[in-house]
Amino acid sequence: MSDNILLKTEGVKVYYPVNNGLFQKPSYVKAVDGVDIEIKEGEVFGIVGESGCGKSTLGKAICKLIEPTDGQIYFDGQEIAKLSPKEMRPIRKGMQMVFQDPYASLNPRMSVHDIIAEPLKIHGLAKTKEEIDEKVIDLVRKVGLDVYHVNRYPHEFSGGQRQRIGIARALAVEPKLIIADEPVSALDVSIQSQVLNLMNQLKKEFNLTYIFVAHDLSVVEHISDRVGVMYLGNFVEVADKKELYRNPCHPYTQALLSAVPIPDPTAKKERIILEGNIPSALNPPTGCKFHTRCPKCMGICKEKVPERVEIAPGHEVYCHLYSEQK
Ligand code: SF4
Repeated sequence: MSDNILLKTEGVKVYYPVNNGLFQKPSYVKAVDGVDIEIKEGEVFGIVGESGCGKSTLGKAICKLIEPTDGQIYFDGQEIAKLSPKEMRPIRKGMQMVFQDPYASLNPRMSVHDIIAEPLKIHGLAKTKEEIDEKVIDLVRKVGLDVYHVNRYPHEFSGGQRQRIGIARALAVEPKLIIADEPVSALDVSIQSQVLNLMNQLKKEFNLTYIFVAHDLSVVEHISDRVGVMYLGNFVEVADKKELYRNPCHPYTQALLSAVPIPDPTAKKERIILEGNIPSALNPPTGCKFHTRCPKCMGICKEKVPERVEIAPGHEVYCHLYSEQK
């Protein structure tokens, strides 16, 4: 991993207006509510959290598939948050997305060859038919499919194979950053590890940087260098993977990790059960957004938003338990 920052966000927000009727101001669903992250070249940054925490929306906003409402996004040194779709076109090939449901993201009327060739043609990365065919075959091999698969259609493949096609399509434009949004959550467990191993191998071969979005902490642990835990549109804890899994500090991270099964059946682990569901992002709780479910909630938590506290180098926690100790 290099020390160069490939991606940086400052105060990124994604708010969706909700119409409250003709004479009333709209309210806003605060899907992402002011996120700051820095991701180094060659790093795998995992984003975890329950469904509805804003992790996928953040991934799409970084890729500009969703327009951020506010904030800055620096990719490879260039601010891209306010760029128009036309201005984004040359930059877009540097960042590609791999989706959860490869079937929905692959055009069922296009053969594998045409699906992978399309971005090559759009971005002018291969001109002649021979060049295109050569690149398509190379990519198909790199993702572990057979050459005779190129003339087949998405419905003829298993979920794992379809995800490999989606990865080949993303790789076709030689991106620096891949944002993988729950790329293995629709697959069987045995296939999940195959796809994760493939992504690991491709990362080294193509010198890629990944943002890996998932709700499954074991999957994120397998592939990530650093992990950010999201709750209701914000990170609550960010740390190196080993540090986070060994020493989770935020009560939400502790609860999430307490639910992950451990391989040793004799080892005891106390499960922390969180009360209630994740509150609505339309009307999030005041102060610490986690206070309605937090087993360690204090008076201050209901009033004051916790600030970032670096409790060890690179280990950041947003919780009054730690700001009180400062
Ligand atoms: Fe719990 Fe308070 Fe920390 Fe929020 S700030 S996680 S409510 S202890």
